[in-house]
Amino acid sequence: MKDLSSRKHASAWLRIDLGALAANYNIFKTLALPGCKVAGVIKADGYGLGVDQVFAALETQSCPFYFLATLDEALHIRRLTKKPVAVLGGLYKGAEDIYCHENILPVLNSLEDISNWQKKASTLGIKLPALLHFDTGMNRLGLDAQEAQTLCRDPARISGLDILYLISHFSCADEKNHPATKVQYDKFVKISSFFPAVKKSLANSSGSFRAKEYHFDLLRPGMALYGLNPVPEQENPMKPVVRLDTRILQIRSVIKNETVGYGETYRFDKNTRLATVALGYADGFLRSLGNSTNDRKAVLYYNGIACPVVGRVSMDAVTLDIGHLDPCPVAGETMEVIGAHQTADDLATAAGTIGYEILTSLGSRYFREYC
Ligand SMILES: *Cc1c(COP(=O)(O)O)cnc(C)c1O
Repeated sequence: MKDLSSRKHASAWLRIDLGALAANYNIFKTLALPGCKVAGVIKADGYGLGVDQVFAALETQSCPFYFLATLDEALHIRRLTKKPVAVLGGLYKGAEDIYCHENILPVLNSLEDISNWQKKASTLGIKLPALLHFDTGMNRLGLDAQEAQTLCRDPARISGLDILYLISHFSCADEKNHPATKVQYDKFVKISSFFPAVKKSLANSSGSFRAKEYHFDLLRPGMALYGLNPVPEQENPMKPVVRLDTRILQIRSVIKNETVGYGETYRFDKNTRLATVALGYADGFLRSLGNSTNDRKAVLYYNGIACPVVGRVSMDAVTLDIGHLDPCPVAGETMEVIGAHQTADDLATAAGTIGYEILTSLGSRYFREYC
């Protein structure tokens, strides 16, 4: 833990509200149908917020199940808990022993995964636990339609396995009434009818909000736990978790026809003042946020007043037009990047991306504070 003095000399401050994260987890617990559990998806370092702290916050709410993307991520969490920990990336070839010894659940994504895990089970003479992933339209991971049919005709292929959950993953649940969501649900119901005794899990954050039929036995929220909006067409039902402020390094005056930044891509049409602040693309302030335009307005806030980004984003610095601020701020004061006036989702829209990418890009140079 860094001491107070480093807070004082930090260039930018990232505040992560673990109480809000716990509250967001509880929103899912309240939302879930009776008997449906709520897992925590904490891959990619807890969506960039720090997996140890995120995990600890979910533990205070008795989260029963954790999903990670990679085996290494799962092994890290395995050292912290005896609860089920699953690898969405599947059963890595040649690593079967590690899953076994460390009691990591593979999400079996193909007939080959199944066969490899089955072989391991018969070698050891025990049933091995796993999740089974059917692809219902994403075409990314999971058994495809052909493989699913082969398995349904020959269920003996999983006789040595203890399948804890059948899962599938939505591709479009963030878009309200997107027809693909219902199509995927129907396919999932059809496939899972071959395995009536096995528990099921379909919904990510957005899917959990779209329809109760999507709940089954386990919700798998990620993004919404971290405060991103799972239902973008309406007001965000989640509590904000992330706050990011940065320090003003310098204030300068520019005159009409001067330019700012690399490539001289922004030319001033009048005299104005600039603030240079201490963050850049090395901190996850994406380069696509440079040269704010009318339809893609990248701004930082000073005391609640929007200041547009002008010029390209540098590695360690961003320049903002502050000609409209009165009184003019001074070096050392702060500006809001993510907070009361701008959400991570807003910043993502300005960058032409999604909140997930903003959070997972948050850099390591920030002074991080957990509360
Ligand atoms: C990442 C992931 C989730 C969580 O999705 P969110 O949109 O962040 O809620 C759930 N299931 C699978 C298979 C995933 O890959």
